[in-house]
Amino acid sequence: MWRDPIFINGNWLDAAQTFPVYNPATGEEIARIADGGAAEARRAIDAAEKALPAWSSTTAHVRSAILYRAWQLMLEHKDSLAALMTEEQGKPLKAATNEVQYAADFLLWFAEEAKRSYGETIPSARADQRFIVQHQPVGVVAAVTPWNYPVSMITRKLAPALAAGCTVVLKPAESTPLCAIEVFKLLHQAGVPDGVINLVTAKDPAPIGEEFCTNPAVRKLTFTGSTAVGRTLGQRAGGQLKRVSMELGGHAPFIVYKDADPVHAAKGASLVKFLNTGQACICPNRIFVHADIVDAFVETLVQRVGKMRVGAGTEAGVAIGPLVNAAAIAKVDAQVTDARDKGAQVVCGGQQLQQGALGKGHFYAPTVLTGVTDQMLIYKEETFGPVAPVIVFNDNDDVIAMANDTSYGLAAYVYTQNLSQAMRAFEGLQFGIIGINDINPTSAAAPFGGMKNSGLGREGAREGLMEYMETKLGGFSI
Ligand code: NAD
Repeated sequence: MWRDPIFINGNWLDAAQTFPVYNPATGEEIARIADGGAAEARRAIDAAEKALPAWSSTTAHVRSAILYRAWQLMLEHKDSLAALMTEEQGKPLKAATNEVQYAADFLLWFAEEAKRSYGETIPSARADQRFIVQHQPVGVVAAVTPWNYPVSMITRKLAPALAAGCTVVLKPAESTPLCAIEVFKLLHQAGVPDGVINLVTAKDPAPIGEEFCTNPAVRKLTFTGSTAVGRTLGQRAGGQLKRVSMELGGHAPFIVYKDADPVHAAKGASLVKFLNTGQACICPNRIFVHADIVDAFVETLVQRVGKMRVGAGTEAGVAIGPLVNAAAIAKVDAQVTDARDKGAQVVCGGQQLQQGALGKGHFYAPTVLTGVTDQMLIYKEETFGPVAPVIVFNDNDDVIAMANDTSYGLAAYVYTQNLSQAMRAFEGLQFGIIGINDINPTSAAAPFGGMKNSGLGREGAREGLMEYMETKLGGFSI
């Protein structure tokens, strides 16, 4: 056990208080972490503000070289970072290793994009006028990240912010501060100058969130987490007209048309639904299957889900790790109970697992529900757990309307062998990310983000850099 300090202006500082971090698979306390508050957030913002002039006037090539070095360091530390993630967050080691790779991809991508923040010249209607557009960093950025992807959600924000020339204060989730500390150590080692990145860990996020939203030095708030918290922070930040990016909750539809291969689609569903034990914002939350192929689909899905081994992510062969905490178990169980009470069939799973070592952690059996209807909680609320709800449909137009019948708009999936059907679904679905016969439509090179209550702005890709830049117009009379 150790006490890890807060990182401000290139120094690791102690805090008067600490809070515990637990291994979700065993319930054991694995560390005590500095518990920061509004005062630490203020100091960190001051440091970021002071570091801004020098950092924002470095060349894009200098910033690119540091990000490139950080990418190399993260790959060198891939195994240790993945092991820490499994211990702190719970996902199986292989999935943790994949996440570190995904996190490193953002460092490389934005090392490259830093050099491509092109401006433009625009023809004027006046013969004596020239227009020039340049991009400049927005300034000090406040960032808040979640626990479910505790390394990649950090680099997805830090890499473009640094590439753009911004300075940053980051508050990680209270259940995964250790991963954040390791990422900061690597960035520091890569040569990010003092004050350019600052980390404030805390048990209670609210005072820090309030400081982020009301301190006038912060020009941008970037948040990944639940829609409820994002909405509250967005409203507060709006008071000072700060720029805001929000990556929020999802309720992804997964549509399997009559002409799709039900076995292939069920394999895809079993992989993406149970990704990170269902704790991913892009996990399907309503699986719509055409009536003619639903039996074949459910048969394959249940076969695969039934074989998924549940346990600590450190054990070989484990596919389903723990949920984050007891509240997550209660939420999943309430949705399953509600569905069962309203007539759904629990085809496999359906309960918390507490036998033997599993009793020490927060484990829920991977579950398949059939006969799900729009009257059930699971049809409307984000589950964030290992439950696959199957809904039968008959009409191709109806299913698009059913899929869009949600306030969320992050990811959607479509399985069909008909190109026209695929294009109609792609165009008709009100979601920011659509996988067509594909369960992994994410990459550092591709824009990630949602519509409606799933958020504002995009991360990754070309768009991800522009989220941290202002557009400045010069009108020259010659
Ligand atoms: P959460 O909103 O409870 O917490 C997210 C972060 O916000 C944490 O760091 C937390 O400490 C912080 N937070 C909470 N209240 C705050 C406040 N008042 N001020 C400042 N910070 C505050 O969400 P969670 O349960 O940790 O994460 C799961 C949610 O995140 C799900 O809804 C999921 O869909 C969403 N998510 C979205 C994406 C995406 O890219 N769209 C990615 C991962 C997770």
